[in-house]
Amino acid sequence: MNMHARNIPVQKSAAEEFLDQLFDAGILFDTGVDGLYGRSGTFENVIKAFDNLVTKFGGDDNATPIHFPPGIARRLFEKSGYMKSFPQLAGTVHSFMGGESDHCTLLAELEAGSDWTSQQAATEVVLTPAACYPLYPTVAKRGPLPAGGRLYDLQSYCFRHEPSKDPARMQMFRMREFVRIGSPEQVRAFRESWLERGQEMMASLGVPLTVDVANDPFFGRAGKMMANNQRDTGLKFELLIPVTSEEKPTACLSFNYHQNHFGSLWDIRTSDGEEAHTACVGFGMERVALALFKHHGPDIDAWPKAVRDILWG
Ligand code: AMP
Ligand code: ZN
Repeated sequence: MNMHARNIPVQKSAAEEFLDQLFDAGILFDTGVDGLYGRSGTFENVIKAFDNLVTKFGGDDNATPIHFPPGIARRLFEKSGYMKSFPQLAGTVHSFMGGESDHCTLLAELEAGSDWTSQQAATEVVLTPAACYPLYPTVAKRGPLPAGGRLYDLQSYCFRHEPSKDPARMQMFRMREFVRIGSPEQVRAFRESWLERGQEMMASLGVPLTVDVANDPFFGRAGKMMANNQRDTGLKFELLIPVTSEEKPTACLSFNYHQNHFGSLWDIRTSDGEEAHTACVGFGMERVALALFKHHGPDIDAWPKAVRDILWG
């Protein structure tokens, strides 16, 4: 062991420094796992106020609200193709299903500090990776869409296995989503209107923002091609706000056009019998709150009056 190593000051990243500030201010609470944090009442007040603001901007569209729990049926998850694209992010729920002698083994393993998880078996539940995943099979079950298509308003805690010291990259976080299902024209018009609205809404909160074409973190070599294709065809846009880095701003809202991907996978049909197209706009609730704390400071009473009025007026 290098005895001098302890004298070298550890250079913390800007992200880690911001995380420390959030802990020190009592806005987030450390749980011992990167990306898994307790939230203060103040943090939750900001999330609630932002949630209401989203409703104000999108409320007239009369979306159907559905709140799914943060778990999706494993059978549906398997069919969704998530493991083809993002196996590195998925989280499955496992549980002890043994008998008494297995229980003795489990306790002995725990006692010895050895790996006790070999006793765990997969349940029927997988953690939801994005709020819209449980929606498509639910809509498919209702039969063909009405002529105007459908619009849903979802919110769910989501899980992604991407542990990080960046407070904006959590493992468990909330996503609100509007999901439009219908003809290509209906779905594209929805995404266009939210690209405008999203910018107007976030600009009203006094944060610097840009919108850029983006791609999902598809796994592996084949994934690189999928990511390039997604960018080239403009299927994903993100609204970015600098949170921990000016050079690499954080995606706080996403605007995704899936074309007929989910319509074909789940056999969702329009009133004309065509495969439905889908698009979703996702709001990263924690990321927006963190962007507001970053730009307006830890004390919400000291935030600019115009911003407070928008959120709590
Ligand atoms: P995505 O499906 O990756 O476009 O995610 C939808 C939205 O969820 C993004 O625009 C982010 O605001 C938010 N989000 C994605 N990943 C994370 C994460 N690891 N931690 C916090 N928020 C996230
Ligand atoms: Zn979605």
